[in-house]
This record gives sequence, structure tokens and C-alpha cells, in this order.
Amino acid sequence: MRKVPILTTICAIIPAALSLSGCGSTAEREVTSARSPAHFRGTSFAGNPQYRFPIVKQGSKPTPGKPNRIYQAVTAPAPRSLPRKSPTKLLSEVKVRKDYISTSARGRRGAKSMRPRYVTIHSTQNWSSGADAWRHGLALKNSKLGKLSWHYTTDENVAVQHLPTNVTGRHADFDGPGNRYSIGIEMCEHPGNSRIRTVDRTAKLAAYLMYKYGIPLSRVVPHYHWPRHGRSPAHKNCPHFLLDNGRPGRKWRGFQAKVKGYHDDITKGGAAYVSR
Ligand SMILES: [Zn+2]
Repeated sequence: MRKVPILTTICAIIPAALSLSGCGSTAEREVTSARSPAHFRGTSFAGNPQYRFPIVKQGSKPTPGKPNRIYQAVTAPAPRSLPRKSPTKLLSEVKVRKDYISTSARGRRGAKSMRPRYVTIHSTQNWSSGADAWRHGLALKNSKLGKLSWHYTTDENVAVQHLPTNVTGRHADFDGPGNRYSIGIEMCEHPGNSRIRTVDRTAKLAAYLMYKYGIPLSRVVPHYHWPRHGRSPAHKNCPHFLLDNGRPGRKWRGFQAKVKGYHDDITKGGAAYVSR
């Protein structure tokens, strides 16, 4: 039986492999022109003095009987797992509407610059008819709530933003860290407002803010988290409908799970959206 030189086999593969890779380059032309068996007769693949593959110079030297790594690399890239949702899409679902308090309004006077480290969740405990997010915004703009201020109010329809997220509000603990480092979100409770939809919108907003400012889930906290020195009780029962007997429990964990779910949607497996 006639021995088929290994070179013939390898060379038959090369053009096909290269055309698969789509690199119709000098390398391919040279390989094609070098197909003549006579060209290789009596020489070794690696040591052929008459012919050099330009691509061999870029990688390791091929050895007879072993496939050159350059050809093994001719494969489709592994599929990259993308997040289920883009942060922009999540934010659009929150429906944030900016309606800033003027810098001269009482709630904003004396505000300091802030780099957010926490998100603090409240509920308005305002059961007046029509006390929706827009109405709270109006009250803040007209200085009807004294020195109080916060960043967002959510209801079943919208999240109205009252302050930029890089300035402090007054919603948690007087001059404490809750005011100095946290973004405050108030959830509406007026008659007819869907609590489920309001909580859902709030969870999405919290998840987006976690993403935007690199805030961990453990720092999305209820108002209860911040002690109010000089007040009794020091820890306010707020947001009351997400607490159990006035403190974080099963309901709060349920809310955290919701926030985590939305955060996972925009970050899990997420090389595509790591930039902020
Ligand atoms: Zn509160």
C-alpha cells in the first residue's frame, strides 16, 4: 500500500479552513498556489526552506503530525449571555418624570451635594383623595411641607422626580447619614391607587438606582433603618405596609426579592451592560 504523506492531508485541509474563517488574505492565496505536491516533495512541513506560511510566523511553530493551532482557532465565537433587559428599558418602565423643586423652595434650601450610597424607601401615609405623585411634587414646589424633601414619589402611574440624585433631601433622620447619603423614594397611598403597581414601580426604580450608582441590595433600606435621635420611637414604622409589626420581616424580604429580580434582569451575565 502506498503511503500518503501527512503533508498532502494537511494541505488539503488548509484552504478550506482558511476560507471558512473568511480571511481571503495573502495567506490564502499563497497556500493555494502552494498546493502542488511537487512543491512539498521530500521536505518537512515545518522546515520547508522554499516556502514559509506567513501565518506560522504569528503563532507557534507547527510540528509534523500535530495540527497547527492557527487552524483550531477557526471556530465560531462562543455565544455571550446577555442580560434579559437593558437598564434603559427598565428605566423607561419606571416612567420617571422630572419636576424639580426650585433651589429657592424650603425643601431644597441648604441642600448639599451628595454621592448616593443608599436608597431609602418610605410611604406617604397621606390618604387624602388625589394625593398622587404629581400632587406631592406640587406641595414640595410650593414649600407646603416645610423643610421636608425627597427625590422621587411613586404611584401606580408614574415616578415624579423632585430633586437631582446628586443633592441631599430631608426625609430620613434629620442631619444623619440617611439624609446625607441616601436617595429618598416615597410611595403614594391615596384612595384608588394600586399598591401593587406602586410597589412594583418602586422596586424597578430602586433596582435601576442600584445599577447606576453601584449600590448593593443591603443598602436599599426602609426608612425604619435610620434611627431618629431624640424621637420616640427612634425607628419609624415606615413604609408601614412593607414592615411586620413595625420592623423589617417577611414583607420587607419580599420587596427585596422583587428589587433583586429587577436588578438581575439588567445585570446577570451582563458583559454588555457593565458600563454605567
Ligand atoms: Zn418615611
